Amino acid sequence: MLNIRIERTANPKQKPAPGQPLGFGKIFTDHMFVMNYTEGQGWHDARIVPYGKIELEPSAMVFHYGQTMFEGLKAYKGVDGRAYLFRPDMNAKRANASNTRLCIPHIPEEDFVQAIKAVVKVDEDWIPSDPGTSLYVRPFIIATDEFLGVAPSKTYLFIVILSPSGAYYASGLNPVGIWIEDEYVRAVRGGIGFAKTGGNYAASLIAQVKAHDEGFSQVLWLDGVERKYIEEVGAMNIFFKINGKIVTPMLSGSILPGITRNSVITLCKDWGYEVEERRISVDELIEAQKSGALEEVFGTGTAAVISPVGKLRYVDDVMVIGDGGIGPVSQKLYDTVTGIQSGAVKDPYGNWHVCVED
Ligand SMILES: *Cc1c(COP(=O)(O)O)cnc(C)c1O
Repeated sequence: MLNIRIERTANPKQKPAPGQPLGFGKIFTDHMFVMNYTEGQGWHDARIVPYGKIELEPSAMVFHYGQTMFEGLKAYKGVDGRAYLFRPDMNAKRANASNTRLCIPHIPEEDFVQAIKAVVKVDEDWIPSDPGTSLYVRPFIIATDEFLGVAPSKTYLFIVILSPSGAYYASGLNPVGIWIEDEYVRAVRGGIGFAKTGGNYAASLIAQVKAHDEGFSQVLWLDGVERKYIEEVGAMNIFFKINGKIVTPMLSGSILPGITRNSVITLCKDWGYEVEERRISVDELIEAQKSGALEEVFGTGTAAVISPVGKLRYVDDVMVIGDGGIGPVSQKLYDTVTGIQSGAVKDPYGNWHVCVED
């Protein structure tokens, strides 16, 4: 249990007006959560302070060797007017999985969740209420030792910032075009692919730029060894509906274990679908598309929740999925998950829709 000191801002900012387009990750609230780690002392000085600049020396280790991790989740205004999170315990667990891989000290799961609840509660009036909008929560840790040697840092900062964000699809759920990347790779087994850390994104930018130049909105990565098996999309896991079955790449160490992915697998099983977590080759996909067995393709992630895929490009082929529109399973998953998040649909599991006041 953290003892959190709260220092409220003397100069609250103007909040975005209802109806104002928010975009993603551009507006920040009045406060942030900050906590320090010092070797020998552990995590200390938990505090909520006015959102603002942090001062670091140019020698701070995070700038040089990338010892850092992040998480991402959203807060929603429930139908009862209170603030809710979606499965924050899963973010706390995954944060520590990333921490282990990156030699960053663990944060007890209950402290991680407590920090998020506390700062969201302080800034709960910033949670937007237009349909599809939410307050994006970004916890992250950076290595702060002033040292140019390659070693785990002995000091860290854990910070949680909040950003009111617009509906991912301004004009409703929209199918995206995806570029299957056949040159660059994102991660390999044994590497850091399963950790939520900046380095994975730095490695992905070049392919993202290429895909955008070619008119595709996201990159789908193949495995780093054979460049043959499907891994995941930029910041989303990927699902296929093939001959009535729901198929998704298994977690092999190079794929980010998405909380939306986990939620979709749980829901699909409970709806009676056969769900397979296994290796899927790009050749199998092409075959399935040719024979008409490939019924739906969708990405899953916190930002878009469910992102239907209308077309997939691989080398010289562009596969159109179904009629290029939104499949019924994609639509039902989107409606159910966003419904549980907002409280409009009753949480079937009891611990997915979590009030920040509990
Ligand atoms: C965060 C992330 C995802 C999606 O995870 P969710 O918990 O569902 O938001 C998928 N892939 C990558 C690379 C990510 O960073």
